[in-house]
Amino acid sequence: MSNRAWQYSIAVAAVLMIGAVAFRPAKQFHRFFLTACAADGPDRETELNIEPPPVDLAHFYAELRAAAADMAIQELAQAEYAGERWPILLISPVAERVGPSVLIVAGIHGNEVSGSTAAIEILRWLQTSHIDAAVYVLAPSNPVGLKAGSRYNSMGCDVNRDFNSYRTPEAQAIRTAVNRVKPQLIVSLHEGPQHGVFVIGTELTPEALLQAMITELQAQRVPLARENNLGVDLQTPGLMIEGALMTRAKHWLGIYSLGELATSVGVPLVTTEVPWSDANINRRVKMQRIAAEVAIRYVANGNPDNAPPR
Ligand SMILES: [Zn+2]
Repeated sequence: MSNRAWQYSIAVAAVLMIGAVAFRPAKQFHRFFLTACAADGPDRETELNIEPPPVDLAHFYAELRAAAADMAIQELAQAEYAGERWPILLISPVAERVGPSVLIVAGIHGNEVSGSTAAIEILRWLQTSHIDAAVYVLAPSNPVGLKAGSRYNSMGCDVNRDFNSYRTPEAQAIRTAVNRVKPQLIVSLHEGPQHGVFVIGTELTPEALLQAMITELQAQRVPLARENNLGVDLQTPGLMIEGALMTRAKHWLGIYSLGELATSVGVPLVTTEVPWSDANINRRVKMQRIAAEVAIRYVANGNPDNAPPR
């Protein structure tokens, strides 16, 4: 890397650190943003004031399978904890569903419950919609975290920091799904501490897609975030792009999230960040569904251009 690129990287890292200060205390920032395996197991992070609604995991699977009734269901991995084993499922469209493909990754962070729950809603919507896209849903991406109301998996690892070493079965399952589906777009559903929704694109994500998502959210009266999850102002409310420099800064800080995998295989990624400060879980699920639907329609309409990427 050139000197100049290093200077940029350090500048971007500094911005991230300013974010750390906004996200008081800095200790929390370190634990929840920088650390790959911060806990001994699927700990609850009460310091963050998240109160994830309790999830009956057996019931969740029953609803997920019912919503995917006509679709193919493959088990990509199992997450084990406290003598229980929970599958990570890749739900694939029926053969007649031809067209470009989208992979929805639901619930990497188990305590961000609206992402996992939205998987069921998206599958229900697909049953009745006539979309010319092959939509694949990976859910629950972190079953143990979902059951425990934890960000982490059974090992106490943040799966969304594991896209370098792939020590968690969850990150391995996501890699398997990406390699198997070879999607034109990946959508990853998250929640964060900010007020309002924002969407994050990588350097490969078409800005028109991000714009379409925030336009639709706004049309449906969903408030857009003015600051990101680290308290840094967003130039355009609701929209953030993690470009190449930000990626370098994240490497510098040792952060390897799903964008790493997506970019390495040439696939655009869009991440949703729905506010967990909105106490109404149904409203949060709806925000996820609106955002995902726009992304699916965008791909169904033949975008991004020049797809497939490989
Ligand atoms: Zn998250």
